[in-house]
Amino acid sequence: MSQASVQSVAIVYGFYIAQRGIAGLVLAVALGQRYNDLRIDVYEASKEFGELGLGLGMWPRPMSILARMGLGEQMKKIVSPLLDDKNGISMEFRKSDSKEGYSIHSFTRALSSMSSLSRQDLQRILLDAVSQNPNCNCYSNHRLDTYEETNAGVTMRFTSGGSAQADLLVGADGIRSAVRRQMFPGLAHPKYVGYGVYRGLIQLEDIQSEEHTIALDRCVVYAGKNKHVIMYPISRGKFLNVVAFVQEPYSNAAMSHSQLLATFDGWERDVQLLLQHIPQPIRMPLFVVEPYLSKWVSDGSRVVLLGDSAHAMRPHLGSGAGQAVEDAYVLASLLSKPLPEAVHAYDNTRREAAYRISGASRTAGEAYDLYAPELVDEADSMSDLGREKFRKIVDSGYVWSYAPFDFAE
Ligand SMILES: Cc1cc2nc3c(=O)[nH]c(=O)nc-3n(C[C@H](O)[C@H](O)[C@H](O)COP(=O)(O)OP(=O)(O)OC[C@H]3O[C@@H](n4cnc5c(N)ncnc54)[C@H](O)[C@@H]3O)c2cc1C
Repeated sequence: MSQASVQSVAIVYGFYIAQRGIAGLVLAVALGQRYNDLRIDVYEASKEFGELGLGLGMWPRPMSILARMGLGEQMKKIVSPLLDDKNGISMEFRKSDSKEGYSIHSFTRALSSMSSLSRQDLQRILLDAVSQNPNCNCYSNHRLDTYEETNAGVTMRFTSGGSAQADLLVGADGIRSAVRRQMFPGLAHPKYVGYGVYRGLIQLEDIQSEEHTIALDRCVVYAGKNKHVIMYPISRGKFLNVVAFVQEPYSNAAMSHSQLLATFDGWERDVQLLLQHIPQPIRMPLFVVEPYLSKWVSDGSRVVLLGDSAHAMRPHLGSGAGQAVEDAYVLASLLSKPLPEAVHAYDNTRREAAYRISGASRTAGEAYDLYAPELVDEADSMSDLGREKFRKIVDSGYVWSYAPFDFAE
């Protein structure tokens, strides 16, 4: 255990559709492990601290960070056993917008292997770890409204009328962050990036009675013009997590299940089958934090942004939560330095790095939808040269996923 430069840290996070506070929870765990005298107050906007959510992919790099935090054995228990074989394919990319879909690229587990898991399982592990720290207080039903920063600390005001103080406030409050709204009033609203995302879980047994060629041991990206579908097994293979990305103008109205199926009319049969078996697709319009922020630290250096509040990105590389894990670990470690040095070191270490991944995610999405400038001529039928171009774009995007986490403590 080392000594933190501050005596108390407040973390705000809460409930937003099917995601819940991975960044805030990892930070609470990491701080508790490092600093035994640090008061950690976690404020959650929803009424209960609970678990909710669908599938999540975690790459070797964030998995190695969670292992450094002593959570490796527990993580092994919740990742899909289908990904154990080191020699097999980890990720396959298919051109699927015709009846005869075909594989255009893949990489093996030896290079990089996504651990697929249920968000609920991960949240349970993190909540268990948080609850073991007597210095960590979790307050539900506390939605942050505004904060006030002085030389002595930060006062938080909640929409319920109450207030609280801390030496440092961490805004891990997601894409519609109240903390970011106050730090950057002009960038309070995230940007809609033109995708409706339709997600659902399929019980493996529901699909087993059907004739199909779905590769159940890997993550598959079914690419096509202006839309794509991603599928991977979660919950130790009990479920398939299916996510369809459809380019559509912003609207409050979601497509019905039958409209979604019609949108993928003419695609290879496996895609149609997957979409048919989603019980009721959950739709969310896709937003990101753009333009990128010029800093993640307030003028007084007592408020910082972390996770999606700072860098919500397109999910095409499955990297947002992994980046949040990295933010949390780095910030926790740097808080052994005095303020403001600690938070500026965090900003310097993490901001550009996260935005690089955000840019790579955008490029990967352009490739999956076959409208990246290099691939436009390949959209109807992909030549060998087209596959090579696709491979280059995709491979450069995934480099971070297996790059060693070499942050010097
Ligand atoms: C379709 C899709 C698929 C994805 N797949 C992957 C993947 O496979 N792998 C991966 O690494 N990432 C993935 N991501 C990204 C990942 O979900 C996010 O990056 C991650 O959940 C961010 O965690 P967070 O804790 O920063 O934010 P959140 O999980 O959003 O939690 C922050 C919470 O704070 C709440 N809050 C808001 N305002 C307040 C307030 N005033 N007071 C208190 N709380 C507040 C928010 O409602 C929010 O729920 C995906 C994203 C999408 C959209």
